[in-house]
Amino acid sequence: MPRIFSGIQPSGELHIGNYLGAVKNWVTLQRQYESFICIVDYHAITVPYEAADLRQRTRDMAISLLAAGIDPSACTLFVQSMVPEHTELAWIFNTITPLGELERQTQFKEKAGRQESVAAGLLNYPVLQAADILLYKADMVPVGEDQVQHLELSREIARKWNSRFVPDAAPFFPEPKALLTPARRIMGLDGQAKMSKSLGNTVGLLEDPKDIWEKLRPAVTDPKRVRRTDPGTPEVCNIYHLHKAFSPAATVEHVAVQCSTAGWGCIDCKKVLFESMENELGPIRERAIEVRANANKLDEILGDGAAHARSIASATIREVKELMGLSATR
Ligand code: SF4
Repeated sequence: MPRIFSGIQPSGELHIGNYLGAVKNWVTLQRQYESFICIVDYHAITVPYEAADLRQRTRDMAISLLAAGIDPSACTLFVQSMVPEHTELAWIFNTITPLGELERQTQFKEKAGRQESVAAGLLNYPVLQAADILLYKADMVPVGEDQVQHLELSREIARKWNSRFVPDAAPFFPEPKALLTPARRIMGLDGQAKMSKSLGNTVGLLEDPKDIWEKLRPAVTDPKRVRRTDPGTPEVCNIYHLHKAFSPAATVEHVAVQCSTAGWGCIDCKKVLFESMENELGPIRERAIEVRANANKLDEILGDGAAHARSIASATIREVKELMGLSATR
């Protein structure tokens, strides 16, 4: 079974943007591929953060993932810092990664531009990303089209390391391919930018239904529907796109007709969306309550995930050290 690796930041509770854009897809893929899902807390410390907050955000992310349908009996769910081989391989890759490549990364330029003092870890972030993937010799990484470029550096690092240390043998590290997924780019409720916690335009995956409705009610729709009698253009409306994500196909068709003929007002339309969302999010919320209530079970899941990940990661590191002339513990 081909192996895939997915990483997610410990940003606390999932919101519907990262649920629809990535996690929902991982839930399907976990039955089709040998899946590793990693909460990347070492990545999270490359920007300013509160120590007291990080552990809670990591646990909240694990709870969200499990509630969303990530099944520890079907995939390996773990926290990055519980598998120290990630940073060990990252250091090794640092020694073969050209500085210029890292400085050219768009994400580095964007994040560095927002900070007064830039830590070296932020520059080296993509090297750790390459280590995350290659440590498990993942065949594929599920990404949306906009992220394909990010994988290129990992592929290049794999090529460089292979040609330096196993030039005449079969590649030790496979070059990970993009597993293009039908990821949806979910806009925030302001309709202005991608849904993102830092922009405060999200709907939490586990949010209380009353709060969800309070957010949906004033959410931006087709700006040309000024009066109730104005026909709308569903494709320009974020609510319509949320219907596509949550409502059955027949409802989506009905929404398009009602909108373009002014049969419905936007509040009618949002009420239907709210019901569709509840059908999907209600059971997720209930699972989250169960997972949260059993802290020992959560520790066990993450502990088992890390132990399994480590069994593979440590074998990779042992072979890498052997091939590089480094000393490895036996
Ligand atoms: S009727 Fe629905 S799809 Fe049309 S503009 Fe209003 S909220 Fe958007």
